[in-house]
Amino acid sequence: MGIIVQKYGGSSVADPEKVMAVARRVVATAREGHQVVVVVSAQGKTTDLLIAKAKEISPNPPKRELDMLLATGEQMSIALLAMAIHALGQPVISLTGPQGGILTDTQHTKARIRMVDGARIRQELDKGQVVIVAGFQGLTPNNDIATLGRGGSDTTAVAVAAALDAAVCEIFTDVDGVYTADPRIVPGARKLKVIDYGEMLELAFQGAKVLQPRSVEVAAVYGVTIHVRSSFSDEEGTLVKEVGSLEREITVTGVAADENWSKVTLVGVPSDVQTLCAVFSALAQAGINVDMIVQAAASKGRTHLSFTVTREDLAEALGVIDTLRADQDWEVFADDNVAKVSIVGAGMMTNPGVAAKMFEALTQVDIPVFVVSTSEIKVSCLVPRGRHLEAVRALHTKFELDPEK
Ligand code: ADP
Ligand code: ASP
Ligand code: MG
Repeated sequence: MGIIVQKYGGSSVADPEKVMAVARRVVATAREGHQVVVVVSAQGKTTDLLIAKAKEISPNPPKRELDMLLATGEQMSIALLAMAIHALGQPVISLTGPQGGILTDTQHTKARIRMVDGARIRQELDKGQVVIVAGFQGLTPNNDIATLGRGGSDTTAVAVAAALDAAVCEIFTDVDGVYTADPRIVPGARKLKVIDYGEMLELAFQGAKVLQPRSVEVAAVYGVTIHVRSSFSDEEGTLVKEVGSLEREITVTGVAADENWSKVTLVGVPSDVQTLCAVFSALAQAGINVDMIVQAAASKGRTHLSFTVTREDLAEALGVIDTLRADQDWEVFADDNVAKVSIVGAGMMTNPGVAAKMFEALTQVDIPVFVVSTSEIKVSCLVPRGRHLEAVRALHTKFELDPEK
């Protein structure tokens, strides 16, 4: 029998009873004859609490030191889970990310996995042990610990599954699969049996936090099938894999929301390409990711330019723009009261009128749209934060994703 990788998220190991329940599931899988690698996240809200602790000391701590702190969350849960599995009589060993051969680049707090050196994990598996690997962390070329960005344990699990050529990568979480929308926002959301990598990637990018986007990217590149399922039941979940063009008549597969954006508007800025270039180069150099961009029609060589950056990056982005603007006569406005809602579906490519239908749905509930962006398989609208959940529900109904009555 092959290797199985199981990942358990923070809510699945939040307290001692839950840790024991995870241990029982892991041991049952091992006793079926599989070699099991378990990737685990920090318990419950531990990562949030660690971030808050750092902020108590400094509003802007060095990222290397923040990573030192954040990595302790996962280190606590691997040890506790190993103790629980040991108590059930199953040989087990826990490894930190660095011990497990998770090698990253040097971008602290948002590092990318460069490769997984699976030698140590294989060695421990071959001794008949369950191997627990800390999610969300790895080792940089400078021998420092780096973390992979929020939700990064998903990516650890998929990367380990790819490196070990595992039969399956099971992501155990507090929902029993991937739904047509976050079931906490849309109670009538429906569970998908299977979803294509491309659609899942887009949903994840647009805010469906059930999987970290990077984990889907890695899965698609290495052909790892992900099974998203519940920690609290045995029910089949959702398979994330290559689906092909089978169900492409379904125009919209899912709806997602992301409240993590803010909008910056440059008013009366010169409408030439050099200015555009200067603005976005300066932001890129500061490592600030820009998502949506819209420019109004130019008049007398001037225009209004709006774009979105994450709320976390807003202050830094405004600093960059201020430096650039220096003594010029245009103005800058920031709006931190926006959210992005998106519809995602590979069927959009061949079905016209999807954007129109989206605007119609939002107009019907009187929700204004500030900025729009599209790709082949998604349409996103920036709307007022506070109304975005209503927007998601309206879109879910409009695109006939609600359960049949
Ligand atoms: P974990 O701690 O296990 O990593 P997360 O909180 O990161 O879990 O992700 C699971 C959550 O993702 C769910 O509780 C759910 O609220 C949210 N979610 C958002 N969009 C979706 C979706 N389309 N399908 C399922 N869950 C979703
Ligand atoms: N503990 C980390 C976080 O809260 C990583 C993870 O849960 O995947 O983001
Ligand atoms: Mg997660």
